[in-house]
Order: sequence, then C-alpha cells, then structure tokens
Amino acid sequence: MSKKNKPPRPEPESLALPPCGVDSHAHLDMVEFDTDRVELMERALSSGVARTGNVFLGPEAYRMNRAMFADRPEIFFILGVHPGNADQCPPEAVEAMRQAFRTDPRLRAVGEIGLDFYWDDHPRELQERVFRAQLALARELGLPPVIHCRDAFDDTIRVLKDEGFSGRKLLWHCFGGDEDQAGIILGHGWHVSIPGPVSYARNEALHRAVAAIPLERMLLETDCPYLSAEPWRGKRNHPALLGFTAQAVARIKGMPVDALWRATGDNAVEFFGLTKSPSFQEDHA
Ligand SMILES: [Zn+2]
Repeated sequence: MSKKNKPPRPEPESLALPPCGVDSHAHLDMVEFDTDRVELMERALSSGVARTGNVFLGPEAYRMNRAMFADRPEIFFILGVHPGNADQCPPEAVEAMRQAFRTDPRLRAVGEIGLDFYWDDHPRELQERVFRAQLALARELGLPPVIHCRDAFDDTIRVLKDEGFSGRKLLWHCFGGDEDQAGIILGHGWHVSIPGPVSYARNEALHRAVAAIPLERMLLETDCPYLSAEPWRGKRNHPALLGFTAQAVARIKGMPVDALWRATGDNAVEFFGLTKSPSFQEDHA
C-alpha cells in the first residue's frame, strides 16, 4: 500500500475511555512540548487520562519548570536525579530536593532514580552512590521511589535489597523485561509500570511477562515524549496516547479495555496517594 492510501492513525479520543486513567510517568516539562503543552494536557483530559505524573529530572528542572503546571491540578510531581545525570547530584542537590519534598504536596515520589549501564555515561560506582543517597531520602520522607533500570537488573535488585526496600512500596518504571524479571520484582512486593512498547508485536517476552503480572500490581505510563505505543510508534508520545498502551495490555490480559483502564488508574491513585478529584493539596499521608 502506498503511503498516500494508508488509513489515518486513530486519535486517542476515539477510544472513548472513561475519565479515570493515570499516566504514571511523563516528561511534559521537556522542550519537546514547548509549542503545545497546554493543548496536549487538555487532550489528555478529553482522552480519559485524569491524572499525569510529571517527572522532573533533578532539582534544577523542578525549580525552572514547575510553574508550567501552576494551574493544572491534574498533574502531580515526581522528582529525582536520573542515573544519566549522576554527576549532578552533590549533597546540595539532595538537600534542595529534601526542601522541595517538605514544602510541595504535589511531589508524590522520588524518581526516576536507579542504574543505567546501557548508556553508561557515568562510572557505575558514582551511579550507585547517587542511587543510594536518593533511596535514603525516599526512606526519610516516607515516599515511594520510582526506579529507572537499564541493563543493570541484578545490580539494581542488589542495591534495593541492601537499602531495605524489599517489601516496601516501590514502582518499577518502564518495565521491558521478561517473566523471570517480573517474578523477582513482584516477589519483593513492588509495583510495575508498563510503557508503550508492550504494543509492539515482536516483544513476545514482554507480552508473556505482562500476562503474568497481576492486575493489582500494574500501572501504565507513556514515558513521553519517548516510546509511543502502536499505532503512533515513532511519533512523539504524549499522555493522551496512553489509551493505546491500555488497549494492548487489555488484549494480552483478555479483558475489556475499560476495566483495565479503571483498575490501573485506581492502582496509581492508591500508589501515589492521590485524591480522586485533583487538587493542589494532596495529602502527604
Ligand atoms: Zn522517564
């Protein structure tokens, strides 16, 4: 079929999902959204995405960009130094985050933090030190961590066990592993967030893993602007496209997409301690 005759991609509004979905992980403060951020936040709401967690990649991004969401109560916040920025986490940065978490009730989790041996931009020892410092902060604040792990599964598990997080509330972001890895994560009592690549036909190991993950431990995320689900693969991702990820997961689970949408949304509300109707004064319980 020539490009000209290709049917248009379905828009997310056409999925007609109920207004109770949650995108647990988005980077809406990135420059990729500078031209149409407000429009896309509106589209998320009209596509059933009631709440979106914006992940600030460190205290400087939080300080510079949080005003973008000043009048968007549906956006809650996650803050942490990504392992790719491990050289930007001196004690002063941890202190700046501590102050932010203590004063801003919209900040609901410490992340994304972890280990990334794929890009390997920074020495592994430094990544691990920065990871541990932020796990300590999460423990001190009584907030859950959101974990980034790429090509570093065994080391990430080792550090988390060592820091006493087995059995504690924790979200494994952007899960792309197999059934064995899912089993280990679930065995520690943690939650798993599923991104768009679950919709790619060739990700069979991930499909089997998702089939095995109990619904009550599952959240959904876009990780936008990256990792769009089919049929938007390769295009810029945004929170409204979360419904296509839900569709793929529902197909794997053999359940109606509305029920999957509701269940994963409820899980996120519970995990992050969100109020059902958005407010700026989420309870720091
Ligand atoms: Zn991310």
